[in-house]
Amino acid sequence: MLTIYLPEKSPRSIYVFNHIFSNLFPLPYSITHDLQVFVNHTGPKFMYHKENIPENYFFWKSAGILEETTIHIINPVVKNELIYLTEDTEDFDPFSAIFYLLSRYEEYTRPHRDQHGRFLPENSVIFQNRLELIPLVEKYAGMVITTLKTWFPGQINYTRAVPKALITIDIDSAYAYLHKPWYRKQILVIKSFFRKEETPPLKVIYGKKKDPYDSYDYLIEMAEKTGFNFLYFFLLAGWNRYDKNISPKNLKYRQLIKKLSQTNLTGIHPSYYSPERTELYKKEIRILSEITGRPVTASRQHYLRFSLPFTYRELIKNGITEEYSMGYAGRSGFRAGTCSPFYWFDMEQNAVTDLKIFPVSYMDNTFSDYYGMNPEESINKIKTLAEIIYQNHGMFIPLWHNHTVNDYGPYKGWRKVFEENLSLLKEMGYE
Ligand SMILES: [Zn+2]
Repeated sequence: MLTIYLPEKSPRSIYVFNHIFSNLFPLPYSITHDLQVFVNHTGPKFMYHKENIPENYFFWKSAGILEETTIHIINPVVKNELIYLTEDTEDFDPFSAIFYLLSRYEEYTRPHRDQHGRFLPENSVIFQNRLELIPLVEKYAGMVITTLKTWFPGQINYTRAVPKALITIDIDSAYAYLHKPWYRKQILVIKSFFRKEETPPLKVIYGKKKDPYDSYDYLIEMAEKTGFNFLYFFLLAGWNRYDKNISPKNLKYRQLIKKLSQTNLTGIHPSYYSPERTELYKKEIRILSEITGRPVTASRQHYLRFSLPFTYRELIKNGITEEYSMGYAGRSGFRAGTCSPFYWFDMEQNAVTDLKIFPVSYMDNTFSDYYGMNPEESINKIKTLAEIIYQNHGMFIPLWHNHTVNDYGPYKGWRKVFEENLSLLKEMGYE
C-alpha cells in the first residue's frame, strides 16, 4: 500500500492523487495528514509539501499551487514538454501541472473568447507550446510512477485500463427536408431551383429519394457490426439562427429518438443559448427524458459552447453526470491535456464534483472545415490520434454528425473516413 503524507489539508492535492492512483494507474494507496502514520508506514510512501520537513523521507516538492484555495493569474514556463507553474524550473511538480491542466485553470483567468464566447486554443499554454497531441496528464502521471518504481522496486503494481472507444453522434439537424413545417419546405424547394442539389427536396418530399441526412439505419448497422458503443446527442430546441433542428414536438423526430435510444446510449445536446438562458437545460432535458423514458445523464453543448464554472454547474443541477464538450471546434488535440475521462474540479468552490468529463478526440468537421483536409489526410491524422490514445490507455471519442457520415454534399467521401476510423479502432484492440 502506497501512503502519501500531506502535512496540510488540500482538496486540490487529494483530487490529483485520486486521479493518478485510482483512475490512471490504479493501485492501493492512502492519504494521511498524520506524520506519525507516515513515519511508521513500512511500505512505499512519499511526502508532498513545499518544504522537506521532516527530512530524510521520500519527498516531492510542491510548487505551492495545490495548497492554495483561490485563483490567480499564472504564467507557466514550459521546458522540454514540462509545465512549470512558478519561476522555479529546477523542480518539476507533476501534481500541480496535472491540476493546472485538468481543472482548466487557465480558462478562469484568460479572458479572450471567440465570437461564440468560447475559450480559444490560442490562449492555452498547451497549444501555444504545440503540446496538443501529447496527453500531458498521462505523461506526468507516468513520470510519478517511474520515480516511485525506482524508490520502491517491485512494490508499485497496477493494471491500466483497456483503451476504449465511444462513437458519438450529434443530431443538429435530424432531416434535411423531411418533417419540417410547410413554409420551410417551400423555402428549401425554391432555393433548390437556384442550386443544383444532388438530392432535390421535392424528390425527398414525395418519397422518391431518401432524405440526405437520414443515416440512421446505416449508423445502427455500424454499431452492430463493430460492437462499439454509440452515443447520440439530440438537439431539442426551438428554431433560431444557430439551432436548426426540426421541432422536438414533431412525432417523427420523437419516434427516431425513441428508436435510437432502444439500442444506443443517448444524451442531450443543449441548444446554442443554453449557457446564458440556463432555464433551457431543464426544458430540453425534460423533453428527452419524456421521449426515452429514462433519466438524462449525458450531455454535450451545441457548438461546444461552455464557460467555466457556470455551464458545468448548471448541468450538475440538472442531473447530468457525464459531459462531452471538452474539445475545440477549430482545432484537434487534447484541450485538457488528457485523453482519459476525469472528474471536474470546480475552482471557485475549490472542490471536486461528481461530473465526469469525457475529452473529445476529434470532431469530423474540424478536419474538413477548419483544416481544409481531404478524407485521406484526415485518416492519417486519425491514425496518429488512435495510436497516441491507445498507448496512453485512454478513451477514443470521435465526434460525428448524422449528416457528415452520409457522403452527401460537402461531406462526399467522408463516410470512408468514418468507416476506416472504426475498423482501425477494432484492429488496434479498442473495446
Ligand atoms: Zn451541435
